[in-house]
Amino acid sequence: MFKLALKTYKPLKLLLLFTLPVPLVAQVNWKAPETIDAKKNLVSTASGEAVVVTANPLASAAALKTLQTGGTAMDAVVSAQTVLAVVEPQSSGLGGGAFLLYWDQATKSLSALDGRETASAQIEEDIWITSEGKEMPWLMATKSLSAIGVPGTPALLWEGHRQFGRLPWETNFKKSIHLAKKGFIPSPRFLRSISLAQKLGINHSLTFQSIYLPNGSLPKQKTLFRNQKLASTLSHLAKEGINGFYRGAIANQLVGDLRFQQKNNQKVQTITHEDLANYQVQNRNPICRKYRSWNICSFPPPSGGGVAVLQALGTYELLSKQPSPKAKTNHWHLLAESLRLADADRSHWIGDPIDFPIPLEGLLEDDYVEERASAIQTSTTTFNPLHGKPKGSESLDLASQPRTAGGGTTHLVVVDTYGNVASYTSSVETVFGSRRLSGGMILNNQLTDFSFISNVGGKPIANRIRPRKRPMSSMSPVIVFKNDRPVLAIGSPGGWLIPHYITNALIGALDLKLSPKEVVTQKLLSVQPNYTVLEKNGNWSKAPTNIHQGLKNLGHQIKYSSFSSGLALIKWDKGSWHGAADPRREGKALSLQVEERH
Ligand code: GLU
Repeated sequence: MFKLALKTYKPLKLLLLFTLPVPLVAQVNWKAPETIDAKKNLVSTASGEAVVVTANPLASAAALKTLQTGGTAMDAVVSAQTVLAVVEPQSSGLGGGAFLLYWDQATKSLSALDGRETASAQIEEDIWITSEGKEMPWLMATKSLSAIGVPGTPALLWEGHRQFGRLPWETNFKKSIHLAKKGFIPSPRFLRSISLAQKLGINHSLTFQSIYLPNGSLPKQKTLFRNQKLASTLSHLAKEGINGFYRGAIANQLVGDLRFQQKNNQKVQTITHEDLANYQVQNRNPICRKYRSWNICSFPPPSGGGVAVLQALGTYELLSKQPSPKAKTNHWHLLAESLRLADADRSHWIGDPIDFPIPLEGLLEDDYVEERASAIQTSTTTFNPLHGKPKGSESLDLASQPRTAGGGTTHLVVVDTYGNVASYTSSVETVFGSRRLSGGMILNNQLTDFSFISNVGGKPIANRIRPRKRPMSSMSPVIVFKNDRPVLAIGSPGGWLIPHYITNALIGALDLKLSPKEVVTQKLLSVQPNYTVLEKNGNWSKAPTNIHQGLKNLGHQIKYSSFSSGLALIKWDKGSWHGAADPRREGKALSLQVEERH
């Protein structure tokens, strides 16, 4: 059971963030290969008693319909996720994994369901090492059969529905089956994602080509797109439930398809019947930490994202209380330094706790966060800071891993009329995952989120590959509480940068009291070990106080980048819920009362 303990903090100091509209330009970043939506400058917002925000209008409509017919937020998650599997397969689906943070109003409890993909019991630690003893290039690994972890999304939906659903399981599949069978008009993003997948490489997957590139070209923009095989997989899961997926016909087809693809290279390892049959959703303990007068809760390991958000907010809070003559630059400086320190810790200490014990309490306790904050200098930046040594880590002698790449992920938030709140991040890893399919569903490449090397100079890496282990994730679904009740839910795709986006957004929403629309349009800051990265489309050079120069004066090496965040958030304000979808993607906010579109 989840306990909320709140401590009152002094009123916050005024911080400045920018809330100008974002002019967007299509960009491809190979490390995070999802584009931003070039022409979208409208922000979808909605307010009401019950609100849903997903990354696609059809998924939001399905979730809203579910709420209208008396479904809970969990029913809405099942409806939205199954529709996303059809209309946004580049980001999530039945062949991927997910994390759910769920507030159950009736029992006043917060749950964290872990449906992360899992490595086969047969896996060996050197799958990403070539015969020359080198790390396999990441792009090559994404296509490999070995990259496919046991999917967790169907099991998570089933378990979440068992605990929190109200409508029949099958009812929540109606819309997705209909869309897969009868077709939908492909969105511009869907078509762009297919082009991206072509650039990443699809020669290894005839099935991808036949479904997503019929006759060798992109699906037509104005013609209904169908995926009959996916319709039948969804129908099967709807009727047979979880056993049909992990132990029945879907499992048989999946293993058969993998074996067929494996036929030319038996040495390539992949998942087995036993791996599917043994898959278990993990009920984890959410991690929570006070931030000023709020209690911020997120996902524990194997996510490193939640820990990073809570640590970064912790150091930021301590340092932002100190008065500064250059308050505006100081805000960005402190944010960058806080994120860089948190990154150093997650690169070092986080992995699936079945392998090494994670010093989780130590990483989040006040004394440790204070110690980390004291390492931040207000007058100069620190390049490549070291990880700390939290309590509980004394017996661990680990090496750090480099940051992971990613790209195919989605986030959705729902609050229903009963007061339940869901914050759900779901992923197939790279755009269209491995680009391999079975039963019309995209298969993930989530095992490329493991460290490619298992040790450095004999010291093990926490996120090394091990049988039945889950790769470290950055996915960070968040629910914020005030006086023991949920007041905000948020999350985003974005690979390693997810906790950076979320920390920016939470400071905007909580400290600056920005509306959801303002939060999703504010300029974002991210970090690398030696750089501070400002949003390219953020028009920073025209910022009132010349933030760029201010940061440079503090020693920051500045880089500019476009960010493909996909923030989805809902915030409680003045007696109702308000939601907004990130304009960098094609998301949609809908409510049971008034829908607004600005
Ligand atoms: N696979 C990544 C993770 O679990 C997410 C990729 C993305 O967000 O685009 O952290």
